[in-house]
Amino acid sequence: MSTFDFDFFVIGGGSGGVRAARMAGQRGVRVAMAESGALGGTCVNVGCIPKKLYSYAAHFAEAFEASHGFGWEGAAPTLNWNRLKANRAKEIARLNGVYQQLLQGAGVRLISGHARLVDPHTVQVGAERFTARHILVATGGQPSLPPVPGGELAITSNEVFDLSPFPQRLVVVGGGYIACEFASIFNGLGAQVTQLHRGEQVLNGFDQDVRPFIATEMRKAGVDLRLSSEVASLAREAGALRVHLRGGEVLTADAVLYATGRVPNTRQLGLEAAGVRLTALGAIEVDAQHRTSVPSIHAIGDVTARVQLTPVALSEGMAVVDHLFGPAAGKPPRTVSYELIPTAVFTHPNIGTVGDTEAQARQNYGRVRVYRTDFKPLQHTLSGRTERTLMKLVVDDASDRVVGLHMVGADAGEVVQGFAVAMKAGATKAVFDSTLGIHPTAAEEFVTLRDPVGPAG
Ligand code: FAD
Ligand code: NDP
Repeated sequence: MSTFDFDFFVIGGGSGGVRAARMAGQRGVRVAMAESGALGGTCVNVGCIPKKLYSYAAHFAEAFEASHGFGWEGAAPTLNWNRLKANRAKEIARLNGVYQQLLQGAGVRLISGHARLVDPHTVQVGAERFTARHILVATGGQPSLPPVPGGELAITSNEVFDLSPFPQRLVVVGGGYIACEFASIFNGLGAQVTQLHRGEQVLNGFDQDVRPFIATEMRKAGVDLRLSSEVASLAREAGALRVHLRGGEVLTADAVLYATGRVPNTRQLGLEAAGVRLTALGAIEVDAQHRTSVPSIHAIGDVTARVQLTPVALSEGMAVVDHLFGPAAGKPPRTVSYELIPTAVFTHPNIGTVGDTEAQARQNYGRVRVYRTDFKPLQHTLSGRTERTLMKLVVDDASDRVVGLHMVGADAGEVVQGFAVAMKAGATKAVFDSTLGIHPTAAEEFVTLRDPVGPAG
């Protein structure tokens, strides 16, 4: 008979924790999960889902504008921000309930409150202590703001969804995923958006053609994107916020959104008490099996600060469960493949990408061939909009394998998902060439790119 209260104790009910707890419960092991906030974590409550709902809302503005060229007449409708917020909140509450049902259906005991480790097999939540054979830390991360005078006047992505009133003038600080997405979204919703990025180009780490292309498209759409631009201080004056830039200029805003990265939630977790080691950057250190320095404690998702994406946290959660409790009947144990992780940035237009940037491919493979096109999508021949689409393939010259695929354009995330499967299967450029297009689509361009941009090199 087990001497532990539970076989598996999960700390954190976000993307990774919920998936791991549910899968473990379905294996018949005794599972508990502690969550200090709302079930579903960042993605469901203040991340992917509400962000995508607001992105849909923002896209209507473009559609209303484009509709005139297709014969539609009349003034564009106006946004009822309060209704959008209320409908989003209702949908998120529904999802919170779905998560609760799924977990309870799998026999998981839900414990509400902040959990901390007492020792390698004990977790404390409030005044109660629970012992477990295995513990999984899936506590995610939170926004991180650089120290700036007046920084307490800024908001983060946690607060942006419920701003009241609607910010007519929004300043966004940062040039990563969150900054670019929210600059696009609030621009589409009707705010006057100024985005300030300290670097020379947005979206560090993305392909060298993608970065200036999206910057141009965002500017064309109305975002006042300023590069090499840094905030000196923030102040509140006469009911408005003043953003003092290094260099002297002062901007006026109704809200200032800082999107300057995220840090792992490792504080007040009792990691030291349990002997769990952190990396130099403050994330929980894990090995290839997601084990921490303490054999009974595993960690997954954003708290390990490797790849901060929901599908990665889900995949890591399932791998841990298979590793600890065995795979599902008839299935091999899962491991996480960190190669060729597709990702999208929900800017307007979207970015979709999988595999190497051109620069990475040159480093990894030596000689590469690059295929690129940028064009006006069919829809915009009548819409009057000047938005363009970029598509790019990077091919390893020796093997002919497509090792990088990048798109900026409508629904790029939807398009790239399918191509990611082909690339995981090792598709060569010859396979792309022999695939028939679906006409007329933008995606067909990926299988009709014939001539490389210059010779292989
Ligand atoms: P989380 O989902 O953050 O869950 C951690 C949970 O642990 C939280 O619920 C927290 O309350 C709880 N917790 C923390 N400490 C304790 C404690 N001591 N005791 C009990 N509970 C605790 N990813 C995508 O793939 N696509 C997207 O479009 C996307 N958009 C995003 C947009 C935004 C604005 C943000 C911020 C993130 C976005 N992400 C997106 C990233 C994605 O949300 C995260 O990678 C993902 O949620 C990580 O899951 P997780 O399980 O590691 O942590
Ligand atoms: P990112 O790491 O993507 O971007 C952070 C940005 O802030 C960078 O432009 C960085 O500049 C800038 N920055 C960092 N420190 C400072 C500073 N002190 N002063 C000024 N600027 C600074 O983080 P995000 O917060 O945007 O997102 C966190 C993660 O969440 C993402 O990396 C992604 O994994 C995930 N996410 C995924 C989404 C999706 O899948 N669609 C959407 C949203 C988030 P520099 O480049 O110069 O370092």
